[in-house]
Amino acid sequence: MRYAILADIHANLTALQAVLADMEKQGGADEVWCLGDTLGYGPDPHECLEIVRARCSLCVAGNHDLAAIGKLDISTFNQDAARAARWNGNQLTQDEISFLAGLPLKVEKGDFTLVHGSPREPVWEYIMSAREAEENLTYFKTCHCLVGHSHAPIYFKFGESCSTGKPSAGTELKLADYRYIVNPGGVGQPRDSDPRAAYAVYDSEAGTLVFQRVSYDISAVQTRMQKAGLPLWLSERLSYGQ
Ligand code: ZN
Repeated sequence: MRYAILADIHANLTALQAVLADMEKQGGADEVWCLGDTLGYGPDPHECLEIVRARCSLCVAGNHDLAAIGKLDISTFNQDAARAARWNGNQLTQDEISFLAGLPLKVEKGDFTLVHGSPREPVWEYIMSAREAEENLTYFKTCHCLVGHSHAPIYFKFGESCSTGKPSAGTELKLADYRYIVNPGGVGQPRDSDPRAAYAVYDSEAGTLVFQRVSYDISAVQTRMQKAGLPLWLSERLSYGQ
């Protein structure tokens, strides 16, 4: 079985469509898993939610999803993020709000635990360092954990000590050898200075997880963001992968 792992779509339909097309080109996926933050920042909340609801067999809630439906205090968001969260929230239908309100914070499936931030703090915590990854090891029971939230592809491999890797497109992990915490990177707003959409594919027969990058039409998204009146910096940052 092949599983596509998507995080931080952030209402960016063009990036999401590019990822799904790339996935099909590479042989498709039996299941798609979503690590949260389908909403926030971008101009296409309905379209992204519709695809996630149709395609993703598993989906957890992210902080921007909860912010958009008023289940999370956005006073800690920066001004631009808060504006985009309110704009996204104002677009939602009652049906979409109910879907988001019903999303779990943590899901276990086979060898994996899925969360948005971290297994210790599923909504808020960023796992960026080996220390943070090690501290989280006791908070999940499965062999591996999949996280999003930082929008940067990274993995933490637990051997005698914890080693960290910043993968590029095509980097392959052999999951049978070690425990891992893996962040596939962000679909809709990458922040590792590479503007291409990021995702990962897990192949359960091969026991491998491969990081992927896909180019997409960034200017089309920026035009829609400007039309929607979303903050300029949020559209500009897409060009830089920041
Ligand atoms: Zn996010």
